[in-house]
Amino acid sequence: MKILIADDDKYLNKLLQMRLSNWGYNVIAVNNGREAMNILLEEDGPKLAILDWMMPEMDGINVCKEIRSKAGENYIYIILLTARDQMSDFLEGMEAGADDFMTKPFKDQELRARLRAGLRILDLQDDLVTARDAIQYQANHDPLTGRWTRAAIFEILEKEICRSVREDSVISVMMIDLDHFKDVNDQFGHLAGDEVLRETVKRLQNSLRPYDSIGRYGGEEFLVVLPGCKEKDATHLAERMRDAISKEPILLGENEITITCSIGISMWQSGRPVLSMDIIEKADKALYKAKNAGRNKVEICENYPVE
Ligand code: GH3
Ligand code: MG
Ligand code: MG
Repeated sequence: MKILIADDDKYLNKLLQMRLSNWGYNVIAVNNGREAMNILLEEDGPKLAILDWMMPEMDGINVCKEIRSKAGENYIYIILLTARDQMSDFLEGMEAGADDFMTKPFKDQELRARLRAGLRILDLQDDLVTARDAIQYQANHDPLTGRWTRAAIFEILEKEICRSVREDSVISVMMIDLDHFKDVNDQFGHLAGDEVLRETVKRLQNSLRPYDSIGRYGGEEFLVVLPGCKEKDATHLAERMRDAISKEPILLGENEITITCSIGISMWQSGRPVLSMDIIEKADKALYKAKNAGRNKVEICENYPVE
């Protein structure tokens, strides 16, 4: 665990370094406030700091304030260690954003205990961030296929539309639906159907560029958002995806399951705002054209959503 010490009193600085090293901490020591702040704001900087109040260039109070206004969710636990011992000093320090306040001269065992308390808070903070990230991931990803949920892919499409309006660029959207998927379930069972869905999505994903997004629109329907992709490129890509799905059968135990898909494409290439639902509706119409034309086909919408 890295701990930053900032104190311009050379003797005390050395003493703190010795104590903290003996207790097993990895110590970074500086003697002015500005340097302390810069190190604490580094990407992989220390998460715990012991700051003196009076220091050259920037005092500990201002370091606290700056850290609290800039560090974002990377929480830094700050102990102010100062010769100032009035209640008003304590209140000012805590008000500035310190987590703890100790007066000099410090007692070894007390400092050690307070460091442990700080580490407990940092551990709790880590756990909270990890749990929040996991919940966010679950909310945005379909549990079966690991791709974006319907709500998440809609949001991505909305953002990409805003971007394309700003940059006067193109977006293509694909609606992909597996052909006769009900038959797969009927013939091989739902679990096999689930496996086929997973494998199909893997194949689709492998055909995409890193900045393309694929989401599960419904049961066996997927929505793909392709920023900056023109009609010709979208058609080529759709043919590649269609091919990637149908070329090799999916092997499940002793069964070889051949699956095909139909793809409808719509696109947006004006600098004017457009409703995401309009683009999706056009892609959906093109998909039904592909279904009606015999399935395992790619079709493009007739008109772009807004002329
Ligand atoms: P079409 O070519 O017209 O699209 O025919 P289809 O059979 O694919 O279409 P239909 O809409 O009749 O049936 C879709 C099937 O997809 C029915 C449903 O049980 C199945 N399905 C939807 N979600 C899942 C899932 O998560 N797992 C499994 N195993 N099946 C699913
Ligand atoms: Mg289907
Ligand atoms: Mg369907």
